[in-house]
Amino acid sequence: SSIFAAVEMAPRDPILGLNEAFNADSRSTKVNLGVGVYFTDEGKIPLLGAVKAAEKARLEAAPARGYQPIEGLAAYNKAVAELLFGKDSALISEGKTITIEALGGTGALKVGADYLKRLNPAAKVYISDPSWENHRALFESAGFTVENYPYYDAATRGVNFAGMKACLASLPAGSIIVLHACCHNPTGADMTDAQWEEIVAVCQARGLVPFLDMAYQGFAEGIDADAVAVRAFSKSGLQFFISSSFSKSFSLYGERVGALTIVTASKEEAGRVMSQVKRVVRTNYSNPPTHGGAVVAAVLASAELRQQWEDELAGMRVRIREMRKALVEKLAERKVAQDFGFVMKQRGMFSYTGLSAEQVERMKTEFGVYAVSTGRICIAALNSKNIDYVADAIAAVLK
Ligand code: PMP
Repeated sequence: SSIFAAVEMAPRDPILGLNEAFNADSRSTKVNLGVGVYFTDEGKIPLLGAVKAAEKARLEAAPARGYQPIEGLAAYNKAVAELLFGKDSALISEGKTITIEALGGTGALKVGADYLKRLNPAAKVYISDPSWENHRALFESAGFTVENYPYYDAATRGVNFAGMKACLASLPAGSIIVLHACCHNPTGADMTDAQWEEIVAVCQARGLVPFLDMAYQGFAEGIDADAVAVRAFSKSGLQFFISSSFSKSFSLYGERVGALTIVTASKEEAGRVMSQVKRVVRTNYSNPPTHGGAVVAAVLASAELRQQWEDELAGMRVRIREMRKALVEKLAERKVAQDFGFVMKQRGMFSYTGLSAEQVERMKTEFGVYAVSTGRICIAALNSKNIDYVADAIAAVLK
């Protein structure tokens, strides 16, 4: 018989499964609020002007496609570190940080997880409750036991900060704490600057290993403002990990552009850590692809293109905020019993609406409006043409 005869069908990815159902839906009014992708008001995934210009120049230069170094493009890695720590960061000038180009934020998390497993195989990983749906599976696939720390408070629609802090303060030294650096996915609830300082202090007091996941830098307030958590940890003298994703901020989803950054205690230590991280990469995919990282590096290296990118990123941020406001207003116009004002306070691409799994199911079957069963909707998929229909659907299922 076949060697695959006993293979079971794996469960469908919850969000990608939603896409398949959406694509199969023949209603012309259907709306997909499931995926975490930014769409323009025309419902299209944008190709940013800054990216287009950098790609054109690259095409004209027609560079050869030799192998990249294991750690990727040096200019890209430097630019990423400067986005995270700021241009004048002491950590960078002292050589305490390493950055490698990775295959999206997911690839960065996986290389970081694999390296951490080698560094401290007995550690447990703690992720927020709830978290991005891939965090648990990803760290489990690296061999870790993964547990939750309290995060979201449904009653206040904010962060259960006391619960989170108490949990972290009870963990053994060496525990790995995955933190959303900004624009928490899926809830949109972020900590305040002061709360971040307290989290840094707890990590320091307990000897925890923070792993900051930065997938939405620039989507809340701006490049520097959204790096507040990274900057707070940078001042602490702690060693920590950061995964960066440019999927959203450069609208380069399919190019898989990300980076893993590790802050060490010294330049000498950084060299040793880099040598080990390179072994992880070498045995996984050898070295990253050329195009995406080169484009991002070119945009960030040119004053003009960088400004264009920041303007385009601000445009995405502003449009999301407008859609939040419009949704709140349109739900109020439809006289829903509940005040949806909290949607304005949430940050990033998502909103945790508080809709139940049953209500989400009704939106899908009755209206063809697709959302995640947890009630998460992607605000960046709303536009001036579909928002009335979506507000109708939400109002209907709330009745
Ligand atoms: N972390 C979080 C919190 C995310 O939301 C995402 C994806 N949207 C990622 C990591 C992965 O990013 P990428 O698509 O670049 O792999």
